[in-house]
Amino acid sequence: MLRGDRAISDVVAREPFGTLERLGDGIWALVSSPLSGDRTTLGNGGLLAGRDGVLAIEGFNTPAGARWLAEQSVALTGRWPTHVVLTHYHADHANGVAGYVPPGGRGFAKPKILVTEATRDLIRARNAPADPARDELLANAALVGPGGEFFDLGRRRIAISPSGGHTVSDIVVYAEPTPVLFAGDLIWNGFVPNFVDTDPVRLRKNAAAVADLGRDRIVPGHGRIATRADVSRYLSLLDELERAARTAHAAGTDAATAASAYALPPSLGEWTLFNRSFYTRAFTTWYRVLSAPAP
Ligand SMILES: [Zn+2]
Repeated sequence: MLRGDRAISDVVAREPFGTLERLGDGIWALVSSPLSGDRTTLGNGGLLAGRDGVLAIEGFNTPAGARWLAEQSVALTGRWPTHVVLTHYHADHANGVAGYVPPGGRGFAKPKILVTEATRDLIRARNAPADPARDELLANAALVGPGGEFFDLGRRRIAISPSGGHTVSDIVVYAEPTPVLFAGDLIWNGFVPNFVDTDPVRLRKNAAAVADLGRDRIVPGHGRIATRADVSRYLSLLDELERAARTAHAAGTDAATAASAYALPPSLGEWTLFNRSFYTRAFTTWYRVLSAPAP
């Protein structure tokens, strides 16, 4: 258990790949443990339950991960998820979505899948391994338009809000009345973010917009459940990466060299690096922006 977890959530289930943590009445976050070596889920997600239905957030890295969360939904609410939202196309958030197809003989219906058109198309085009069950779910998905989706699960209003910057299409999910928000990979907590598909200017703007919603409990795409202070520290991390990339770019240092020599200042606290290449990606991404001709 990481420092501070106990103060803001209660663990209701624990597996090698992660923990399910209760954040309020009908609200649970699946916080993955990506350093455990168990890749069943890899990313974070969760459940938002109302009187008439349950929204599951994310498809996770494997169908076993989504299936596990669906079974937790049954244990906690009596319902298989009725709705599923995928925040973006990355494999660790989307590949396991077919795990939400309910097992036969138990009277559960297939959930409604909510996804943007861009995310659906990117999953089809890029994500391996192929999965015919995932393709079939996506073929019948409800597409989230630019205005978002708002619906009521019974004493629980859900807002699915399109955004972007981590990838070309990211979704943020929140519920009323609760202080909880699921940020997808627009927010990371305690892990240096992956810039592989990132527009860093758009990411910084939209991550700040998430912070401005003023929620007290933010479920990041990776890392433990974030407080407002944690999100503020993450915005400082993004600013620091920008500053470092701009300084190296102005000095004429190539991105790979600058990244290999780079270390975060200790004032930002502890940030786990999944891989040294994450700095290279961050610098390369910023260099692309800084080298682009002025519009
Ligand atoms: Zn991602």
